[in-house]
Amino acid sequence: MLLKLTILPGDGIGPEVTDEAVRVLESVTDIFGHQLEVARKPVGGAALAASNDPLPDDTLLCCLASQAVLLGAVGGPAFDHVPAAKRPEAGLLRLRRELGVFANLRPAVCFPALVDASPLRAEIVHRTDIVIVRELLGGIYFGQPRSTEGPAGYRVAIDTMRYAEDEIERIARVAFELARRRRRKVTSVDKANVLDSSRLWREVVNRVAGSYPDVKLSHTYVDSAAMALVARPAEFDVMLTENMFGDILSDQAGGVVGSLGMLASASIGGKVGLYEPVHGSAPDIAGRGIANPLGGILSIALLLRHSFRLEAEARSIESAVNAVLNEGCRTADLARYGQPTLTTSEMGKKVSQAVKQHAPAVA
Ligand code: NAD
Repeated sequence: MLLKLTILPGDGIGPEVTDEAVRVLESVTDIFGHQLEVARKPVGGAALAASNDPLPDDTLLCCLASQAVLLGAVGGPAFDHVPAAKRPEAGLLRLRRELGVFANLRPAVCFPALVDASPLRAEIVHRTDIVIVRELLGGIYFGQPRSTEGPAGYRVAIDTMRYAEDEIERIARVAFELARRRRRKVTSVDKANVLDSSRLWREVVNRVAGSYPDVKLSHTYVDSAAMALVARPAEFDVMLTENMFGDILSDQAGGVVGSLGMLASASIGGKVGLYEPVHGSAPDIAGRGIANPLGGILSIALLLRHSFRLEAEARSIESAVNAVLNEGCRTADLARYGQPTLTTSEMGKKVSQAVKQHAPAVA
């Protein structure tokens, strides 16, 4: 198969982790006999610095002409004071909208070897295997009106949390379909005791649930969900939620399973799938070669699974990650006191080798 991809390394640790993800992808395509056609394009702060636009037309057109997009991360303190429309994050939000990717899947899995990397007790985090299904194109990140108005000292800022029934329905269907292939449990997270948008969310999710009698649905307020995520993470299967709640809860899930650096994501449902680690550009560690590339690498597994239906190839990456963790390989964020650590590229090479070692069994 020909795999035509656009790679958007972005800012901070983005380029460091995407290099390793591409390294692993090259091993997989080699072993399974696929051809890879890759174009690298700037996005976020890197694009802003080069062409005064966080999502240049050339980058967007290249993404739209490819079959899938891998992104590193965007943003950083150097761009904190640029106008809102020019911010790196605005480029990313626009990219998601242009690609039409309304469903963001964020698996949070506790790898057995990492049970001690979690700040939670082993018996609590053990067997945690959640997919957060986050609505990605609606809610407060996109709702209108939004503005900051008035004279200094008296300014008023407005953001709007808006959801239409069809937006809720389509993301709910993604969650229920996914749950059918897993443990058949959906927990819908909202704030229906306070917000109108959440009351509509709950009503529509209940309606959609009628088509999935084999899936058990429960509803939880977001504050209670945040508590349950650290108290009983292993009880969740599919967590369905709106854009901002999903953004927050998925970072929390990263902490639960040991490191934000472990989390991958797939944004699907549109013309072209977008795959990216959940973490940001991590300016505090950028350029030091110590970032954990596993979230980026596991995003490649999601890319192969969702954009190309290459399940064996996806599993070969997940097994390789599991194998290197079982061997004791750790980047600094995962290491316990005194444990030796690998650099970003050493970890990438280890996973790439592990993919090759397991090749006869999977190819
Ligand atoms: P962050 O995710 O970049 O970092 C949070 C913490 O986790 C930091 O201490 C960082 O060192 C650590 N961390 C993150 N990824 C890691 C990895 N792979 N390996 C080891 N440690 C890792 O969040 P932040 O600091 O709040 O944001 C930094 C910038 O990134 C901001 O400009 C923000 O807007 C942007 N951001 C971008 C995205 C994206 O591109 N999708 C997502 C979140 C934040």
